[in-house]
Amino acid sequence: MSNRIRILDDGVINRIAAGEVVDRPVSVVKELVENAIDAGATSIRVDIENGGKKLIRVRDNGSGMSHDDAFLALERHATSKLHSERDLISIATMGFRGEALASIASVSKLRFVTCDASDEPGTEILVEGGVLRKSERVGAGKGTLVEVGNLFFNVPVRLKFLKESRWEADLIDELITKLALAFPAIGFTYSLDGRVKIDAAPVRSTFERVYALHSKEVRDNLMAIDCSIKDVRLHGYVAKPPYVKSNMRSVFTFVNGRSIRDRLVNSAVMRAFANLMERGRYPLAILFLEMPPEQVDVNVHPQKAEVRFRKPKVVSDTIFNGIHEALMGAPFTPPVGVGHRDPIFPRPPYSSVSRHLREDRPLHEEDETTEAEPAPSIQWESPSADPAPFEYRRTGRYSSMGILGHLPHSFLVLYNDNELVVLDHHAAHERILFDRLMELDAQGETSESQGLLIPVVLEYSAIEARALAAHLELLRKMGFIIDEFGDKAFVVKGVPGWYKRTDVEDFFASLIEVMLDTGLKGDPSRLKEELLKDMACKAAVKEPTEMRPQEIRALLENLDTSAAADVCPHGRPLTVRYSLSEIRRKMGR
Ligand code: ADP
Ligand code: MG
Repeated sequence: MSNRIRILDDGVINRIAAGEVVDRPVSVVKELVENAIDAGATSIRVDIENGGKKLIRVRDNGSGMSHDDAFLALERHATSKLHSERDLISIATMGFRGEALASIASVSKLRFVTCDASDEPGTEILVEGGVLRKSERVGAGKGTLVEVGNLFFNVPVRLKFLKESRWEADLIDELITKLALAFPAIGFTYSLDGRVKIDAAPVRSTFERVYALHSKEVRDNLMAIDCSIKDVRLHGYVAKPPYVKSNMRSVFTFVNGRSIRDRLVNSAVMRAFANLMERGRYPLAILFLEMPPEQVDVNVHPQKAEVRFRKPKVVSDTIFNGIHEALMGAPFTPPVGVGHRDPIFPRPPYSSVSRHLREDRPLHEEDETTEAEPAPSIQWESPSADPAPFEYRRTGRYSSMGILGHLPHSFLVLYNDNELVVLDHHAAHERILFDRLMELDAQGETSESQGLLIPVVLEYSAIEARALAAHLELLRKMGFIIDEFGDKAFVVKGVPGWYKRTDVEDFFASLIEVMLDTGLKGDPSRLKEELLKDMACKAAVKEPTEMRPQEIRALLENLDTSAAADVCPHGRPLTVRYSLSEIRRKMGR
């Protein structure tokens, strides 16, 4: 008689467990970087080759391990972070199951070198597919280096499910971004195939980290959030509309410092942004939730990305209120009777992030600027600026309107026979530019260019440069004189006539963001439209004070010839109208 049941050997057990903990390169990176963070590192460097399939290297300057611990660390369920079941209830460290290193070692060729603070030399260990190949004492500085080569070399099934290197690398990029946001005091460097993609020096506040990681357009639109309900606190940043993203991956959520994704959180975020965004658009939000550890169960998902809240309602209310407050500014209420029928797009009353900027940026105290607050009154056009401000022609829907002036830093105020009309001059200009660019494109014409006195050289990361290079034709057709300039640089020698702005760098940075964002989804016609939208948006006037009365006139006349003159290319209304009869009624007349 032969026995059929046998205890699986450790190697097999480890490989099965490995499937749960590590399913692709990004999960290996996550485990290794979290170990480095747990070890108190202040500097972490991640190098990746071939999307992590060939090599993942994580180096830290944390506590390191003693010789004995180095061996123990490779055993399953060996951890220095959890001593009893009770500890599971209040987990403060990132890792806690003690199975990551063992799992990774069982499905790769793993080399690690570690050295703790003692006077002893360091330890180097080589493990292949879970089998110890070599160990020796070596000279090493304090900290740990882990190299994971040929991931899944002995698990062909897993290997088959890995995607293109580029896709795997994007996931890793996103992960490092998240970790960098969660740990501003730690310096992160991330390189892919020898090229540095993220280089974030240690800073003292989240705000500085957010600043360092994002484009100027995002930075200009950031609003600070801070809201507490009961013992749940939410702080962080949202980018106010019109800055929007095309997928939900731009909502970064951290619970007690741990990055999570959660449907409850996402739906509260979307509720707070309802009416401010079209469908299919998503906000950029960086949310830090803090709550007592016992109110959140992090042990429901093998990769610890999902959590369970003990008080979901409080969490969702805190998120909704926090974001809503930040977006609306406290006293904002839409005019009665306008809000539901004619969705308005509130902008000026947002509480400004610049206030927060001053509180939260200790490293740059010296360059603090004190901006004068704008007068909170309507700035009327002086009669001499517009020769006939109270006269208007009766032809043309827009061009027939009279110009009253503009609200501080925001909308134009116009009128006609029976309405007071508030016009978003930026959205209107954007509409006109976008129509013109679409027409150029449809007719296969090339816009006129003006040479720049001093050409602008733009430098990018490899991925950004690749995206831009793929769209040079479109840019040239739209009137830019632009050439490749070496490996990852471009030179802009001329700009189109319609382009009046000077910040060429900003303009291109934003286009590249659209290329990367929309381009990844691979719909070329949609991408082209998004690019033209972005060009129009970037080139359109921002401040009403930039417009002379003649220019406002020209804008109104152009709107009359636009087929879609009531909404901007992003679908937002250009005007909010208050009819005279409505005003009369409200006045009790
Ligand atoms: P866990 O992190 O869940 O404890 P791991 O398998 O990831 O399990 O790591 C096992 C142990 O190895 C950790 O508890 C820690 O003591 C040690 N360790 C792992 N990585 C490092 C590192 N980079 N620096 C110092 N110690 C480490
Ligand atoms: Mg770990």
